[in-house]
Amino acid sequence: MSRQYNFCAGPAALPTAVLERAREEMLDWRGTGMSVMEMSHRSETYVGIAQQAEQDLRDLMGISDDYAVLFLQGGASSQFSAIPLNLLRGHESADYINTGNWSKKAIAEARRFADVNVAASSEANGFIDVPDPDTWQTRSDAAYLHVTPNETIGGLAYDRLPDSGDVPLVADMSSTILSRPLDVSRFGMIYAGAQKNIGPSGLVVVIVRRDLLGHASPATPTMMDYKVQADSGSMYNTPATYSWYLAGLVFQWLKEQGGLEAMETINRRKADKLYGFIDQSDFYANPIVPAFRSWMNVPFTLADDRLDSEFLQGAEARGLLNLKGHRSVGGMRASIYNAMPESGVDALIDYMASFEKERG
Ligand SMILES: *Cc1c(COP(=O)(O)O)cnc(C)c1O
Repeated sequence: MSRQYNFCAGPAALPTAVLERAREEMLDWRGTGMSVMEMSHRSETYVGIAQQAEQDLRDLMGISDDYAVLFLQGGASSQFSAIPLNLLRGHESADYINTGNWSKKAIAEARRFADVNVAASSEANGFIDVPDPDTWQTRSDAAYLHVTPNETIGGLAYDRLPDSGDVPLVADMSSTILSRPLDVSRFGMIYAGAQKNIGPSGLVVVIVRRDLLGHASPATPTMMDYKVQADSGSMYNTPATYSWYLAGLVFQWLKEQGGLEAMETINRRKADKLYGFIDQSDFYANPIVPAFRSWMNVPFTLADDRLDSEFLQGAEARGLLNLKGHRSVGGMRASIYNAMPESGVDALIDYMASFEKERG
């Protein structure tokens, strides 16, 4: 079967060129006679691969040496507990913004360790927008302010963040990292599970300001202590070597595409096309207030949800895969991360138009 368009929210599509490269290098990485999977993580060859990946990520995002870049395991969810353990730094409370399912998970986990103040929430209106940062009830003694700038399930996104002063801003960027340029220097920490826009699942990238390290609570598991991981080059134990390598291939691919400015242009165009089509139709709808619509995850409903399964079957027959919405939301969701080519969005719109014509 030929490759099709995979709209899965995660693990998500990877660039075909990256998978082809991995295939070429699978059995014999550049004359070493072995697969990257079989290499010692302490070998010069593998350490070179790992460091190149880190450097490429630093180049792409403009990450200064004030930050450690960690390649850890356990996905983004492991960070929901690692963050309070590492970043409370003697404080008792932390501020969180609640904009959807992933915020709620981060909040629930942080409550095990900290006095969590939900400084703003859009839950009351069904998470269709984000309260103005000027109204956020943040606390000056909070250890940090946690945000989820792209809610993968609800398809809600925002980039207006307050100047939090001395309170470090911590962002779960799992589903938006690398989709466009970002001023990293505004953040104390950025983290992202890899399986949306970076590489294979299980890996999580943590970008953390070095001055925040070294204050982990005594009960912090060693594996979760950012200082330990930073000091050991993310190799306190055996890292997810192959996933890290594959992430490195994705970073190289992004550089070849022209970096994050180029991705921003393409991603904006893809999102504009899809939302534009949904908005002009009476048959499809997206509930999010336009200023807060995600470029990466586009949920939409059909005017008659009894047609949902027929829509999905027809999509699959055309090679448009994984369009079913999250079980908590229903309807459809098209995730259109960096690896989704514009032709995939065009094919989806073509299909949606013809389905509406026949069944609308
Ligand atoms: C997918 C996702 C997560 C969870 O990632 P895991 O790697 O499965 O733990 C957390 N936050 C956001 C915003 C996500 O999109």
